[in-house]
Amino acid sequence: MAGWEDNIRKVTPYVPGEQPKEKNIIKLNTNENPYPPAPGVLKALKEMEGDLLRRYPDPAATELVEAIAGYYGILPGQVFVGVGSDDVLAMAFLTCFNSGKPILFPDITYSFYDVWAQLFGIPYEVQPLSGDFKILTGDYKKENGGIVFPNPNAPTGRLMPLEEIEEILSCNLNVVVIVDEAYIDFGGISALPLLKKYDNLLIAQTFSKSRSMAGGRIGYLLGNERLIRYINDCKYSFNSYTMNQTSIAMGVKAIEDKAYFLECTKKIIDTREWAKEEFSKLGFVFADSMSNFLFVTHPRHDAEELFLALKKEGIFVRHFSKPERIKNYLRITVGRRDEMEQLFAFLKNYKS
Ligand SMILES: *Cc1c(COP(=O)(O)O)cnc(C)c1O
Repeated sequence: MAGWEDNIRKVTPYVPGEQPKEKNIIKLNTNENPYPPAPGVLKALKEMEGDLLRRYPDPAATELVEAIAGYYGILPGQVFVGVGSDDVLAMAFLTCFNSGKPILFPDITYSFYDVWAQLFGIPYEVQPLSGDFKILTGDYKKENGGIVFPNPNAPTGRLMPLEEIEEILSCNLNVVVIVDEAYIDFGGISALPLLKKYDNLLIAQTFSKSRSMAGGRIGYLLGNERLIRYINDCKYSFNSYTMNQTSIAMGVKAIEDKAYFLECTKKIIDTREWAKEEFSKLGFVFADSMSNFLFVTHPRHDAEELFLALKKEGIFVRHFSKPERIKNYLRITVGRRDEMEQLFAFLKNYKS
């Protein structure tokens, strides 16, 4: 190794799901929404003024922050926005997890958490899910430097009831507990009401899944005003202008169109519930997902072989080779009904 390389920060990066170039594929591998963003979003994009792009955007993204705060009935000071929830979660890790004690998260979960911990030098300890993929609240009552988990969890789709979240919060008043609600809009119950009672709670959400805007890169945190101020201080010490003018304008329109949002999420929930029945009929086994994906396994099929067979057919799903416990599972995004019908048509004839 060359001398200069000795002092380079070396990390093993997160590997996102594949974004294939081919058209006419069925893309069920990265939990994108199969429906387009709200009509107002595309209109805002087309009508973007050159003069607004010429100037720096509002560093506080006030318009978007106010729209989100209004939507949830909270104060603008309780909202932090960023470039996707990956950005706001990274900022939350950087701001909140500085005790030197290990932070806790599940062994099977969003695989970005250990990457940020590694990047920021935060020690961590993973807590194993139960045999049926449940987060066990008892594992989160030991001494720690903070807690993070998705609800519903990814890639299992299992939802944790609010009482259990409250149990974790109340046992951890001296650390920040981050609940990553990337998939909460598909039938789950948000921890939002707990913000009044627990100022150690931080909720992360995103426009990428339920608002069909993964390409727009908007995520946000909801928390008490003091905590949000600390996170803003870190952000302004890193990059003042994370939110570009176009995303701010599009994000406001997405939030404003509640009817469209409810219509799309309902369609996905209905397709998911129907897909659960179809998967069961074919002998697949899965946790009861409350998200926009199903995490399925089959007693007679090898998951990796099936993953490759589907890919050959132009149907992309996600397979994780690690950890060992989930290597015979596939995470399948709930697409449009016609896309799912094509998936099931293939599975009906599939012989491993
Ligand atoms: C998709 C996802 C995110 C981040 O999505 P962004 O596109 O960065 O907003 C965060 N957490 C979980 C669990 C996710 O699945």
